[in-house]
Amino acid sequence: MSSEELDIKAEDLLKFDYDPPTKDWMDPSVAFRKGTYCYSAPPKNLEYLGMPNPRVWSPTDKDWKLPADWKETVLDGMKDRLSKYRSFQLFMDICVRCGACADKCHFFIGSGDPKNMPVLRAELLRSVYRNDFTAVGKILGKLAGGRPLTEEVLKEWFYYFYQCTECRRCSVFCPYGIDTAEITMMARELLNLIGCNIVWALEPVANCHRTGNHLGIQPHTFKDSLEFFQDEIEEITGIKVDLPINKKGADILFVTPSGDYFADPGTFTLMGYLMLFHELGLNYTWSAYASEGGNFGLFNSHELIKRLNAKIYAEAKRLGVKWILGGECGHMWRVIHQYMDTMNGPADFLEEPVSPITGTKFDNAKSTKMVHICEFTADLMKHNKLKLDPSRNDNLRVTFHDSCNPSRAMGFFEEPRYVLKNVVKHFYDMPENTIREQTFCCGSGAGLNAGENMEQRMLGGLPRANAVKYVHEKYGVNMLACVCAIDRAALPPLMEYWVPEVDVTGMTELVANALIMPGQGERTTDMRGEEIPGLEAEDVETEGDNVEE
Ligand code: SF4
Ligand code: SF4
Repeated sequence: MSSEELDIKAEDLLKFDYDPPTKDWMDPSVAFRKGTYCYSAPPKNLEYLGMPNPRVWSPTDKDWKLPADWKETVLDGMKDRLSKYRSFQLFMDICVRCGACADKCHFFIGSGDPKNMPVLRAELLRSVYRNDFTAVGKILGKLAGGRPLTEEVLKEWFYYFYQCTECRRCSVFCPYGIDTAEITMMARELLNLIGCNIVWALEPVANCHRTGNHLGIQPHTFKDSLEFFQDEIEEITGIKVDLPINKKGADILFVTPSGDYFADPGTFTLMGYLMLFHELGLNYTWSAYASEGGNFGLFNSHELIKRLNAKIYAEAKRLGVKWILGGECGHMWRVIHQYMDTMNGPADFLEEPVSPITGTKFDNAKSTKMVHICEFTADLMKHNKLKLDPSRNDNLRVTFHDSCNPSRAMGFFEEPRYVLKNVVKHFYDMPENTIREQTFCCGSGAGLNAGENMEQRMLGGLPRANAVKYVHEKYGVNMLACVCAIDRAALPPLMEYWVPEVDVTGMTELVANALIMPGQGERTTDMRGEEIPGLEAEDVETEGDNVEE
């Protein structure tokens, strides 16, 4: 995404300030300015999913065509969720407005809009809670920080809760452990009750129900795509890799986000999976039904999370596999680790995952029976099960973006770094307060990876881009690795806009570049079909450094 395509030059986008606005925060009026909001979901998606109030409408319309009883529906929905989810009740009650989270959200840092401070974002919902569900709010109203639910308040919710990527960075800094992402999830659920949803969050869910994946790709096209990559690998390596699809009785079901077989650079990582599994002789299978690891239900409602997650386990049961291996995805892992067990689990019909190559038992997956490709590959490397030639990645100076969900929801800090340091010689971490648990979001998660909100995305991604720029300028970093399909789609335009010298890759693509496969022809190109530079290239001052800032 160049400045020209966004139509705003980077230097102009940076002209925001942090001065407090003159407008009272309680004033809910909001201007739906082009570039900062997402389009509404078309009625066909709501109809397909059996969701309420399908209609043609736009956030910029004066009349949102809400149901006559919309207010009661939302307040009843809030009451129901307050009694069902103790965390929601707690998050509504315990914030002391200390402000520790205020400057931690990438959208606030990038825009200066105070309603993008996590504390104030939550307050948009909390004020209604206070007004209608607390004694003090019922008596004192505005004096107690209460606001009645009006159409203007509802529009403000839509604007700001669809400007939160549910990344949970703010929760890391809250002394009370308040998770604003969970508050956003509740607000979006309430908006969904009256048909106020966005196309990029909901259409993938409808597609997934219809054909098994977010993109709506049908089984025969899924198979064609994988066969295409099988041919590409043969061209690069001379080896025709196995391609088991819907294979009953395989040991392992492999599930990855559809972004990996749809667009670059995810496709290069997908080729990496195929090569790795072939090399290991893994008894595994792909599925044309569970052809999606991602779960955009997470960006709409608990009910939709559950429905999408269930199909992966139903397919594991149908195929009779022992356990599930998951590819490089972000939010899929948050669903597996934080919600699956109580929604559809425990998956007792599967076996506790054990690597057939190393014998390692993945105790952390005891209940979900699902192992992340990062830990699987790191374990292979630890046991010296892979022959690798890292010099094939010598032209790359790599840094790693901790995707929000694998890092904050799973604690995957070391595994991807361990893998990367085994396959690249030049690795440089970004500054400490921008990685691992404190990682900055790509700015486009939670269904915000659309085109119409590009200005917001570029501003939200600014803190991440700044940290990349830092290691680019200091160490010459030219490649940003990540283990998330949304990141592989969202980071390229972000880099193109702010740090165009840096490209984006998946972890397994770099593994595949380095992987030595017995019987392969001479490897002259990497997974992208680009020439592998000679090992003699010695333009590197800090050769062999694996540096942490
Ligand atoms: S850090 Fe926690 S307690 Fe403090 S303002 Fe933010 S959400 Fe409230
Ligand atoms: S979850 Fe992320 S996007 Fe949402 S308020 Fe917190 S820091 Fe901002």
